[in-house]
Amino acid sequence: MSDVHVRFAPSPTGRLHPGNARTALVNALFARRYGGRFTLRIDDTDPTREEAGAVDAIRSDLAWLQIPPDAERRQSARAERYAEAAERLRQAGHAYEAEGAVRLSLGGGVERWHDRVHGAMTVDLAHQSDPVLRRADGRATYTLASVVDDVDFAITHVIRGDDHLTNTAVHLRLARALGAEPPAFAHLPLVVDERGAPLSKRDAALSLATLRAFGVEPEPLVAYLAGLGTGRSLAPGEDPAATLALEAFNAAAPRFDPGELARAQERWLATLEVDAVNARLAARGGAPVDAALWRAVHGNLARGGDGPWARLPTLAALEEWRAVASGAIAPAAAAEDRDVLAAAADALDDGIDAEAWLAAVSEATGRRGKRLRLPIRRALSGRSDGPPLGDLLALVGRERARRRLRGERA
Ligand code: GLU
Repeated sequence: MSDVHVRFAPSPTGRLHPGNARTALVNALFARRYGGRFTLRIDDTDPTREEAGAVDAIRSDLAWLQIPPDAERRQSARAERYAEAAERLRQAGHAYEAEGAVRLSLGGGVERWHDRVHGAMTVDLAHQSDPVLRRADGRATYTLASVVDDVDFAITHVIRGDDHLTNTAVHLRLARALGAEPPAFAHLPLVVDERGAPLSKRDAALSLATLRAFGVEPEPLVAYLAGLGTGRSLAPGEDPAATLALEAFNAAAPRFDPGELARAQERWLATLEVDAVNARLAARGGAPVDAALWRAVHGNLARGGDGPWARLPTLAALEEWRAVASGAIAPAAAAEDRDVLAAAADALDDGIDAEAWLAAVSEATGRRGKRLRLPIRRALSGRSDGPPLGDLLALVGRERARRRLRGERA
């Protein structure tokens, strides 16, 4: 194990969304890439802002993404340590008391450092007021708690959202005042929504839990998030840690695009073997599917409907296909299609192959192309998308197909 140690430090004030999940993921992948450790640090110094259940939700989201932390720390358990550090800084002359609060003496000057995402940074501290480390009520501020933790836990790389980029000059000064060599910093730009606004923890529609409920699977989400803002898209099955480089992340804010995620999921589903599908269905309490069904329909699992997730293919959609293949469905037939469906039922001998069958129906009705195939598809499956008609026919079976073509529920 190397000495690389990173931390993901959410405050438990809401649910993870793809933006902070990306921060967690990049930390975890970085640790994996360099054989280091990944710590989950719960920033819970302000109990009034804490949301019930948030810590458990964060843990289960990380487990779902398959990036469980190697260790967990809670800032609420470390109040004494922060008080001690503030006192030590005061005694050493790095901090002073004013109106009951303890403040760091910045002492002006310019701070320069190299951010692994944003490059060369320069911040003039001359006009910045001395930051509060400890409030008059005794509580540590984020600044003190975060830097003391990073020093105490020997964090080597701070990878976090770039809303903290401007805090970094102060964090560098404070780490040095504590007698430590500061960690390296990488500030990832915040992920924005389609209107350009940063994703919010308060927006339940984009929480990881909601995505999961919609049928997003963790592997394609990880592949999507690992490539987001790098100009690369990862191939399904590619280990995202193997090529991870902090410098590859663009400094401009990337947009969360459900369509792109849907395509990543589609590419991933196309690589799944039926055994892997069934293992997943079983874990969710679902019945298995057979290999022929999976082969025929794995490309036709989009949710459909309107909205940003219409193109997302889901394993839950296999249930609908199972009903098409072996359950009873009410056929969908428009009045003007009765003739073609009747002709199709008549022509469907047991021996005829699918193309010869369609040619015979075309001959009998004068229909071709979509006007021939779509009504037949709808009668066989109750839907307008699906595998090639020959495969659909094989899936449904000829007996059931004839009954559906005649308008019976079968
Ligand atoms: N709790 C802070 C946040 O969620 C942590 C920032 C950091 O990583 O230092 O923004």
